[in-house]
Amino acid sequence: MSQSQNTILVTGGAGYIGAHAVLALQKAGYQVIVLDNLSYGHPELIQDRLQAELLVADISDRAFLDNLFATRQIDAVMHFAAFIAVGESVQEPAKYYRNNVVGTLTLLEAMIAANIKKFVFSSTCAVYGMPKEVPMTENHPIQPLSPYAASKRVVEQMLGDFDQAYGLKSVIFRYFNASGAEPTGLLGEDHDPETHLIPLALLTTLKKREFLSIFGTDYDTPDGTAVRDYIHICDLADAHILGLEYLLQGGESNLFNLGNGNGFSVREVIETTKKVTGLPLPVKEGDRRAGDAPILVGSSEKAQKILGWQPQYADLEKIISHAWQWHQQRHG
Ligand code: UDP
Repeated sequence: MSQSQNTILVTGGAGYIGAHAVLALQKAGYQVIVLDNLSYGHPELIQDRLQAELLVADISDRAFLDNLFATRQIDAVMHFAAFIAVGESVQEPAKYYRNNVVGTLTLLEAMIAANIKKFVFSSTCAVYGMPKEVPMTENHPIQPLSPYAASKRVVEQMLGDFDQAYGLKSVIFRYFNASGAEPTGLLGEDHDPETHLIPLALLTTLKKREFLSIFGTDYDTPDGTAVRDYIHICDLADAHILGLEYLLQGGESNLFNLGNGNGFSVREVIETTKKVTGLPLPVKEGDRRAGDAPILVGSSEKAQKILGWQPQYADLEKIISHAWQWHQQRHG
């Protein structure tokens, strides 16, 4: 990866995906400024572990953004700051539209006013809704099924319009299941409340929870449990560097799926977790979770072809063993 003295603003950089992107940017030689309101972020990861600059402020604070863009030379923005809980978004949609849509609009308006016109955006495969074909490509029909997914889709549409009108160039990444952790234990996943399968399996292994629920055993899949495309967080972060470089080199706006192309069932995740840890993992079979698709597996051929992205950690054992290292250290 090329060295660069460009300065990149990373919103939501104190979160799980954002922090791994900050590390990847540092490794690639970029200057990084993290902007995070710390509603969910972990400042110690940024300040202590990554020794990066952290500004505690909200993306909706236009005066703060105007001042930041007037006083610092910023070449591009990577935007991770967003609420992500699908279930909560159904109960409190206003919270999601306010932060994920209105907050992002404020950020984009401030960028355009300051003539900063390169933007990397965290979107989600949830914009596709229920899969009509697997693996899903970027041409799969769009049908967000939750306010969370809709809030991401609205921003995607805004970005198309803003390119036409204001020349703002963006790379949109639609993530499948971001998982795993930085291999040496420097960074990892720590959501509160935790809802994701792999961290919940590891927290159960560590006896922080009594058992892991399997949400549905009657899906039309080989073992009856739902299948997902777990992509290693470092592979995801690397793609962001490539997307950024594509924009810095004058690339047109584009969008890419990021998945590893392999599907793993909930039971496979459980069996692999037990193999990696060598410890028991009590489970209880339960009902399906509302809104869950039976299979979500993405095709990332476009990112591989256009960005030259090559995922390094396509196997589940690596993903879970890196996550295990992090969880033992954080919660053990
Ligand atoms: N899942 C599960 N038990 C849990 C959490 C998740 O069986 O405690 C299942 C969930 O139904 C889905 C898969 O694991 O099929 C991945 O869920 P996760 O919440 O990690 O990611 P999602 O695919 O919903 O974005």
